[in-house]
Amino acid sequence: MVTDERRREIAVGLRAARERIAAAEQAAGRPAGSVGLVVVTKTFPAEDVAVLAELGVLDVGENRDQEAAPKAAALASAGLVWHFIGQLQTNKARSVVEYADVVESVDRVKLVHALSRAAVAHRADRPSLRCLVQICLDDRPGRGGADPTLVGEIAAEIETAPGLSLAGVMAVAPLDADPDPAFARLAAIAADVRRQHPGADVVSAGMSGDLEAAVRHGATQVRLGSAVLGYRPPVR
Ligand SMILES: *Cc1c(COP(=O)(O)O)cnc(C)c1O
Repeated sequence: MVTDERRREIAVGLRAARERIAAAEQAAGRPAGSVGLVVVTKTFPAEDVAVLAELGVLDVGENRDQEAAPKAAALASAGLVWHFIGQLQTNKARSVVEYADVVESVDRVKLVHALSRAAVAHRADRPSLRCLVQICLDDRPGRGGADPTLVGEIAAEIETAPGLSLAGVMAVAPLDADPDPAFARLAAIAADVRRQHPGADVVSAGMSGDLEAAVRHGATQVRLGSAVLGYRPPVR
């Protein structure tokens, strides 16, 4: 059971995060409500996610299948939209398509094919699985994401893959660097993708440390963990 104190903490964090998003929208000259919130619940218990749902959060994000699958199962009746945001091995596609509504971390053609096969076989009765192409904005590989030169090819594969639909792009800012130029680059790539695929208008960018920069550069959705739920011990 979640304590009253924890419940209050989450409510306060959520309110502050929503106020930060609203201030960022205003500072960027963008309409109120134009930036969506995905609360990243990785490492936090299912009880915390249930509190978020009670507080009106619709979208939650998880980055490891082993953790996400049981949490999503425990909260199956909460009406949440589950975003898978972590690096994904093709052998986990089968599991992820069972609970995810959006996979934000599609970064290679091989993964597109694995997700498509799994979606056709195991979620044919549900709407197509929305996919974002994750773009690497870093010169250091290893944190996932496609090289920007490959984004067009991956997007086209998603668009034609049975069981999948192309929703847009996602990125994480480089570590220890100014996020503004990285998010500006992302905005240009996102515009290219939209030119080819007009419906693919999601730009998922911005975390607790850099949401204002992401909103300045056109993010339509931020992914906030610690800003809402508090300190999270490093996972790896
Ligand atoms: C953990 C994580 C986040 C949230 O990070 P915070 O700094 O806690 O807001 C956002 N996006 C991805 C891909 C993550 O793994």
